[in-house]
Order: sequence, then C-alpha cells, then structure tokens
Amino acid sequence: MHLDSLIGDSPTLLLSTKAKTLAAEGKKIINLAIGEPDFKTPTHIIAATKKALDEGFTTYSTPQGLIELRSAISDKYNNAYTAAEVLVVPGAKAALFTSLAAILKPHDEVIILSPYYVSYPALIKLAEPTAKIITIPLEDNFSFPLEKIKAHLNSKTKCLIVNYPHNPTGQILKEMEINSIVQLVNDNSFYLLSDEIYELMMFNNSVHPTFAAFKAIKDKLIVINGFSKSYAMTGFRLGYVLSNAPLIKTMNQINQNIFTNTTTFSQYGALSALKEHPFHLLNYNKELDARAHYIHAAVTRLPLFTGFMPKSAFYYFLDISKTNMTSTDFANTLLTKYGLVVTPGIAFGTDFDHYVRLSLAVSIRTLKEAVVILEAFCKDK
Ligand code: PLP
Repeated sequence: MHLDSLIGDSPTLLLSTKAKTLAAEGKKIINLAIGEPDFKTPTHIIAATKKALDEGFTTYSTPQGLIELRSAISDKYNNAYTAAEVLVVPGAKAALFTSLAAILKPHDEVIILSPYYVSYPALIKLAEPTAKIITIPLEDNFSFPLEKIKAHLNSKTKCLIVNYPHNPTGQILKEMEINSIVQLVNDNSFYLLSDEIYELMMFNNSVHPTFAAFKAIKDKLIVINGFSKSYAMTGFRLGYVLSNAPLIKTMNQINQNIFTNTTTFSQYGALSALKEHPFHLLNYNKELDARAHYIHAAVTRLPLFTGFMPKSAFYYFLDISKTNMTSTDFANTLLTKYGLVVTPGIAFGTDFDHYVRLSLAVSIRTLKEAVVILEAFCKDK
C-alpha cells in the first residue's frame, strides 16, 4: 500500500510551515488558522490530572478506558449507552479512525459532506485504502443536502459521516433535518457516523441534540466526541466512541493493537471535566458569538467578501468568490504580503475553493487587525 499517494501531506501544513519561517525572520504574523480554543484548560481538570500523576497512575489503564470515565460518559448520555458501549481513545481523530477501520470492507462507499473536516478523506483511506469517497456539497445556504444523499445511496454505501455543530461553517442542524436523517438511517442499512466534537460550543445558550438520543438507530449509529474543544484539552488526546457492544468490541481490538490504552492520567483529567458543569463555556460561547458578529459585520461591509453568520464552533467561513482568486492563491497572498494566515477552502473540499476559513479562537483585537488587512487587500486589488 502506498500511503503517501493515498493521503498526501496535511492540506494546511505548507502554509503553517511558511508562516513559521516568516515569523522566525521577524515578520509580524496574525494567525487565523488556529483549530483550538483560546481559553485555558479549567483548573480542576489540571488539578485532577496532577493528582493522578502524584498517585502513580502512570501505567497502562484498561484498554477500553477507565471504568469510572466510561460510566461518567454513559451518565452524560442519560445511560442511552452503557459503559460497555463506550470506548475511550486518544482524541476524536483516533475515534474516527478506529470506527472506520471497524466497519469498512474493501470497495465500500463512504459519503462525506463538503466542506468537511480536513482529515476525513485521509482517515477513510487509512482505514480502508480501496474505499470510495463520495463527496456531496452542502446546499447553497449550507443546509443539509438530504435529497442529494438519497440519490447516491446504493448497496455499497457503508457509512455517512456528519459533523454538527459544523467545522468549518459553524452551522447546526434544524430539528426537521435531524428527524429526516434519523428516518433515512432507519430506512437503510448504512452506518451514521456523527462527529459531535463541537457539541457544547453553541451560541445563544442553545443546545445541539445528539444522535445518541435516537434509540431506533442505535444498531447503525457511531457517535464521536471528545474533550479537545469544549475543555481546551487538545494536548491531552482524549476522545471517545459510543456504539453498540459488538462494534465497540471490534474497535477495542483495533485500539489495543495501536494505542494499548489512552494516557491514564489524562483520563483522570477527563473524569474531572465530566464531574463539573462546564461553567467556563457560558462566557466563552458568549465571547465567540460576539467575535462572530464582529467579523460578520466587518467583512460583509467590504466589497470583496461575503459570508454566513455561524451559530456554533469557532470558525467563520469567508466567501472570497469576488476576488476571482483560488483559495490557495488568496491565502498565499495574504500571508506573504500582509502576514495574515487563513486556511484555504480547498482543504475542505474542491467545491469550496472560493472560501477561506478564519478562526475565531483569537481576541477581538486580533480580529480587528485581521480586518484592517482584509480592507487593505480590497484597496490594493
Ligand atoms: N473532528 C472535527 C470536526 C474537528 O474539527 C477536529 C479537530 O479540529 C477533530 C475531529 C479532531 O479532534 P481531536 O483533537 O480530539 O483529535
């Protein structure tokens, strides 16, 4: 298997390497390509992790994950999934890979929706190199392309991957859309793989329902979640999968042979995260909402840009069609001429080469500096 030809470099790597080189040469760089929140890991999580280290939890843990942690995850989902139906792995990415490796057989088809999380295609190919990836773009207003998905279903369709709240658009599903997806899964035999990593990062105190609440599709559902985003624990590497017991058993066999287990003391930190209400997000989500409003108002006043107001997560997907540039050229120009780093839309699918993603995980002050640059770009163009 020639993995290099199947997966290639990370689509965003070249740009971040260039940004680092320019920064090392002394150029001021504003980085809006950040994929992690800008608050500190809550202190009770740090304290619980340190305590676990002090108490000697530095050895292997149960491969499936600490029973206390899996029970706490089960409680979080109102026991719709028992501790035996939970697998703890090193991050949501590992959860995605383990799930795909457990279900995919040669030449299966996997449907992903673009713009997609940048790692989905590589994770699918790593799990099953012969798998066929069917990419379906979201509708013009980023709504769910239900009819288009229906048109692509066939006997080889093994899995549909959805990701709500959505990276990179910040859009969420309407109740009607959720019900239609559940109905579609119910009526067919493919798996729904729901990546819910931004679940708690919702604006206006709203809540995004989890597909785990729908008992009717439990035998065909895989829910992915983790601690990276909501608890600023990206470096802890902690994610988990919910699914039916036989699938979790297969996934655990994969997990044992690759990871053995997830870092034991990190799991104690995660346990502490679940024991307390995520009060830190009340302010942070308000702050994200304010940043989203700011950037939306500021960029839509400029002649060359448009965009949709996000409702969740921490990204703004900026429409650059009026520049008549590809997203890579646009991102390169912004970096080399003005020192602003953005993620080219092409990284999220070929249908989105007229977009770039701006991270909102930076202060309003930084966003204001970025807007000054975007203004200058419009004037210079
Ligand atoms: N899924 C989505 C949609 C993401 O945006 C990310 C990270 O950016 C991940 C999964 C991976 O999360 P983790 O850091 O827990 O592996």
